[in-house]
Amino acid sequence: MRNKLSKADVKNLFILRRVSPDAVMDVLGSCPVVPLKRGQILLRAGQSNQNLYLILSGKLTVFLEYPGSDPVAVLDQGETVGELSVIDDSPTSAYVVAVEESRVLELDETAFWRMISESHAFACNMLLLLSDRMRSSDEALLKNIHLRKRFQRDAMVDSLTGMHNRRWLDIQLPRLIDRHVRSERPLCVIMYDVDNFKKFNDSYGHDAGDDVLAQVARSTLLGLRPTDLSARFGGEEFVIMLASINIDLAWIVAERLRKNIASERVVTDDGRELPPITISLGIAQSRTGDTADSLLKRADTAMYKAKETGRNRSCREEQP
Ligand code: GH3
Ligand code: MG
Ligand code: MG
Repeated sequence: MRNKLSKADVKNLFILRRVSPDAVMDVLGSCPVVPLKRGQILLRAGQSNQNLYLILSGKLTVFLEYPGSDPVAVLDQGETVGELSVIDDSPTSAYVVAVEESRVLELDETAFWRMISESHAFACNMLLLLSDRMRSSDEALLKNIHLRKRFQRDAMVDSLTGMHNRRWLDIQLPRLIDRHVRSERPLCVIMYDVDNFKKFNDSYGHDAGDDVLAQVARSTLLGLRPTDLSARFGGEEFVIMLASINIDLAWIVAERLRKNIASERVVTDDGRELPPITISLGIAQSRTGDTADSLLKRADTAMYKAKETGRNRSCREEQP
């Protein structure tokens, strides 16, 4: 490994584009060329750094968490590293590790600021490099925001049916109750459950059961107004929230859904036609002082009445 800087080394460095070698060889020639072995750590996150490194040959990898974690960048020959901590005198924010045998030119603070003051082109290249770094970090930030939104959405959506899940319901239902009770508008909840679903699974298989749940979800969503909300409560139980309608109208919605589901052909992904399925439904309307639990409990009790009295039917909550 050569430890002396040559003019050929300097030729391919972005940071030295349009910089006259004669003007800067004086400064650069006095800077050490540091050889790095494969795997050698050049910078450590959180530690201070007073040098800018110009990569003369080889490759360096940048890690944010620890060496060997997901790399955020690979820096090639001609690129630089360490500029931010030299400029703002703060600890480095990443680990920089040689992927292969490499050579870097080490400019200490004095050499760096001399280069800035003696070469306009060097200063311009440094600004370009910093704006490029800012753009990449903005892009990474945006990607992160999109990812976070996707994770948040996934955490609230049931993957089998595409419906909102229990977690979402636990957040939304108290808000809905609060809004409706405060404005003295009715809010109805329909809770329903697939009848004899265990037997269905046992007879036709769990995959066919999954197809049925997806179909129930589709029928539910098709039959609702845009202001109505629905969720998979868990297993083969679902909940619908009907905004601003009373229990008489909610009962009509429940019956329509029940009849739609009972009359649908159930066809599995592989084309098998299965016997129709039915659901039992319980309906409750919000009252003053209701919580999500108390309202759901009354809908659940009504649903069990529908089960007990023969299934494939809708029952209302007991009158207060
Ligand atoms: P009932 O009419 O009283 O509701 O009887 P049931 O058989 O539907 O009720 P039970 O609670 O005994 O059984 C519910 C079954 O639902 C058992 C469980 O395996 C099945 N199940 C729950 N979640 C899923 C799922 O995601 N996919 C499938 N295929 N089956 C599920
Ligand atoms: Mg059931
Ligand atoms: Mg059940």
